[in-house]
Amino acid sequence: MLFIPRILKDLARIFTAGGKRSFLVGGAVRDMLRGEKAHDFDLATDAAPEEVAAMFRAHGNSVIPTGVKHGTVTAHVKGETFEITTFRTESDYHDGRHPEKIAYTATIEEDLSRRDFTMNAIAVELPKGRIVDPFNGRVDIQNRVIRCVGNPLERFSEDGLRPLRCVRFASQFGFSVDKETLDAIPQTLSITAKVSAERKRDELDKIIGSRKPSAGFLLMEQTGLLHELLPELAVCRNVEQKGEHRFDVLDHSLLACDFAAEKGWSHEVRLAALFHDIGKSVVCAMNEFGVRTFHRHEREGAALAKELLSRFRYSNAVIDTAVHLIENHMFQYTEDWSDAAVRRFIVRIGEAHLPNLYRLRHADAFATAGEPPRPDFLAPLMDRVKGILEEKEALSLKDLAISGNDLIALGVKPGPRIGVILHELLEAVLDDPELNAKEKLLEIAGKMNGGA
Ligand code: ATP
Ligand code: MG
Repeated sequence: MLFIPRILKDLARIFTAGGKRSFLVGGAVRDMLRGEKAHDFDLATDAAPEEVAAMFRAHGNSVIPTGVKHGTVTAHVKGETFEITTFRTESDYHDGRHPEKIAYTATIEEDLSRRDFTMNAIAVELPKGRIVDPFNGRVDIQNRVIRCVGNPLERFSEDGLRPLRCVRFASQFGFSVDKETLDAIPQTLSITAKVSAERKRDELDKIIGSRKPSAGFLLMEQTGLLHELLPELAVCRNVEQKGEHRFDVLDHSLLACDFAAEKGWSHEVRLAALFHDIGKSVVCAMNEFGVRTFHRHEREGAALAKELLSRFRYSNAVIDTAVHLIENHMFQYTEDWSDAAVRRFIVRIGEAHLPNLYRLRHADAFATAGEPPRPDFLAPLMDRVKGILEEKEALSLKDLAISGNDLIALGVKPGPRIGVILHELLEAVLDDPELNAKEKLLEIAGKMNGGA
């Protein structure tokens, strides 16, 4: 018996009053059986969508017909949202993505048989809590195994997203995958290839968002999914590195991503960590001493990452941040950097991005040695950056003591020349902050403008 939250019992009363049955299904049941908190409640019922809507509205709740084509309505009850789906089956997946036909069925057992994995095919009848588990999902949850409902090859051929869901659940829960289920993945890659970029991205995001993303990515590699979705990363296997590096580029990338995940860092940092070195497989060369070199791999990597992230339709904001971090991850700070060099570094990175770049470097350092770097290994640079930021010196055009209008008053013709002069003035001020005074800047500008 599972503990049934009060709100679900209230919902169940609406169904019983209408002479209908209701079951909690899907992820909520699975997560409760795993001893975790359920995050969204999906219900299944023998009532038709219009009947569900009518019953809930009669009790003063708002109902939105979110997916009536699939038999789903969304009910808002006491500030919470519930997806309610009429018992149904699916058939004839011609394109490996969308069922051609859905049909309502009479029993919860039939409804459960269309679901992907045994752990996701358990229902709990409301309000009492009777468990319906025709595929022994509870045993699999107990053994921490992911197994298809029915024949894996058939189930993956119907819907090419399922293999990806499989590896992402494995990554999220630390579960293993049943052999027959795992073996079916390489055989259905062509079906997965047809799935939309957005649906694939959502699964990738959940792997990256899990506590140990490498678990998911290694399963992807083992089954061919990595080559199918992220060939840029897959080819980093066996790209060996020398010097302080202990791992090939793929393991190094996965470790960096794991580190960022373990620290709870943002999605952008995790993406940057995962892809920061993908340029290496492209620029890899051998120098005259027989040592591998990876010159400018950060630039190549940034270009590849931009293409890759765009392919999965990530938002421009996410792409820009991740790509910027990748492009700039190779800075080599030494104590002999002048203050001007530190100021230029801040300007190039942008103040807002600095914490994320430090994080990326931490992840990179961890994944080089395989052990945490000294927590303060970036401290000398961070301290100097902090000091300069505290002095509030000019770091951008808007911080200059003069503006475009001052230049016009000085006789510079309005137009692009104004921007060029302002940028040069900023360069001068980055070198020597003392110059950021109106008279001094006007004097320099006057000279630049041919002494006018
Ligand atoms: P999450 O915790 O990520 O929400 P979930 O299992 O609840 O996991 P949903 O996408 O919310 O995933 O789907 C709810 C349920 O619908 C699943 O538990 C499963 O029973 C079924 N389901 C979802 N997607 C598929 C699919 N592609 N093929 C078969 N059944 C699916
Ligand atoms: Mg769910």
